[in-house]
Amino acid sequence: MTFSTTTRSSSSSSSSSRSSSTIFDRYPILNGIGGLSHGSFFRIQDSSVLQEQERGQGGRGPTTESLAPQLYKIMIGESFIYSPNLTWLIMSVCVWCIVPYNLDIIDLDLLRDNTNNTNTTNVRVVQLQPQLHNGIILLDRIYINLFLALSYITFWHCALYFWGYCNRPFVSNRRYNIHKVVHNIFYTVLGIFQWTIVEGMFIYLYKSKKLPYCTTTITTNDNSTDDWNWNWNILFQTLILSILVPSYRDIHFYFTHRFIHIRCLYKYIHSVHHRNTDIEPFAGLAMHPIEHLYYFTCYGPLLILPTLFQFKLHPFLLFWMGMHVIITPAASHSGYEDHFSADILHYLHHRYCECNYSAGINFDSYFGTYRNTLAVVQQKQLTSKVEEEEEEEEETTTTTATKLPPPPPADPKSTLIGWYYPEHIEYQLGTYTIIFGSILIYSYASNSNSDSNSNSNSGKITMSSSSMMVIYSIPFGPILWAFILGIWTAPTKISWRKICLAPFDKDSTLSLLLHFGLGFILGVLPISYLLYLHLI
Ligand SMILES: [Zn+2]
Ligand SMILES: [Zn+2]
Repeated sequence: MTFSTTTRSSSSSSSSSRSSSTIFDRYPILNGIGGLSHGSFFRIQDSSVLQEQERGQGGRGPTTESLAPQLYKIMIGESFIYSPNLTWLIMSVCVWCIVPYNLDIIDLDLLRDNTNNTNTTNVRVVQLQPQLHNGIILLDRIYINLFLALSYITFWHCALYFWGYCNRPFVSNRRYNIHKVVHNIFYTVLGIFQWTIVEGMFIYLYKSKKLPYCTTTITTNDNSTDDWNWNWNILFQTLILSILVPSYRDIHFYFTHRFIHIRCLYKYIHSVHHRNTDIEPFAGLAMHPIEHLYYFTCYGPLLILPTLFQFKLHPFLLFWMGMHVIITPAASHSGYEDHFSADILHYLHHRYCECNYSAGINFDSYFGTYRNTLAVVQQKQLTSKVEEEEEEEEETTTTTATKLPPPPPADPKSTLIGWYYPEHIEYQLGTYTIIFGSILIYSYASNSNSDSNSNSNSGKITMSSSSMMVIYSIPFGPILWAFILGIWTAPTKISWRKICLAPFDKDSTLSLLLHFGLGFILGVLPISYLLYLHLI
């Protein structure tokens, strides 16, 4: 989850109780920079986590301010500087300096086989071999991504669950279950693989000139670059856009997240992420691979701006976006409330499911889905969980004041098995048949096209239609199949509106159009566009 709008930590109450004056007491403006409290990542003891407070009752987490002050703080950069995003950006810049994208890798490889080729020939060969290129990039980046992500998440897991760096778990009588952790690691690794494929596709687009990009060094007359001759305009532009990345991710996450909470999509896709009702760091990226597909589509602007608006972007923005989607969920899914990236609202989302869909910018307070405490409260229950809906059809229609259940003493789903569990086998089989079937047809057509004579039109027509099949079937197929199965298996007494829209079926038409429209545009269409640029 992202975390971009944390308000600056007020240190007045805690600083007064400290016996010795620190630099943060003398200069309060320094406190909270990078999300740290008094220079610490752990055991946060500022005014937003009162030590006498019960666990899970408004601990450190996203701001509850209304939208206008949040947007103002985003515009002036305050929400970025006083949040973990600054820390993560600094980490990303450091890693980028060590292992930047190797945009020369395919040229070097081809030059070995084409010693006398011209630039034109070189480009033609690159365009004919996207699969080969993606394979090379995958091998080039997968070790880096696995190392970065797994070492970061493992650090958080060990720091909290073995080394005792924090002392305020949301659930005090939590039982550690290795099966759940192995389950989450498995899905996390699948997500890292998928993001690496996305990176490979972008790098292919950069190298094949389909996606214009800029560099921070000035190119000299002989087409070489001077490493020490900085293009300050590009550096400044990349810095500003880097600061905006977390805010865009907040917006993208909210609408995409609500979209996959629609009854049919939740049942077959998002429920895998919600198997964790008491989250730990590896739960952050533990999603169904189809959810990874939509979760990663925050790369949309990195495609739209250069291709539709001729606005060249630096490839670092893709790397930073990747670091943000891969590593930031770890700390916000920690299960603890006293560290620099704790997120009680998302903890409550996993506990109660139908509240707090946003992360960072708090959209929920505007749309009636905000909840800020684990405590038992009297409040109107929004709707029941999708899974429970089918079992207890009559009870789900209850909309009167209901007492929410107290937090369970331990994670009721902590017995997750440690290997892939093909729940809803009919959905898995159908979805992967659609995806891999279309890829196989495309590969067959691609091979046929390259084998056929250039003056033969039949191969080209097949190639074009198979490309379109991939472009449409991968992003839309899993959604359509989920709706077909969801409608087919729904209890007959449930209305069509409830089957297709629950748990948002009571929302106004305007709200439905806003949420599902933006969810579809931001979370689904970028996949089609990425595939289109790649294949056409
Ligand atoms: Zn959710
Ligand atoms: Zn989550």
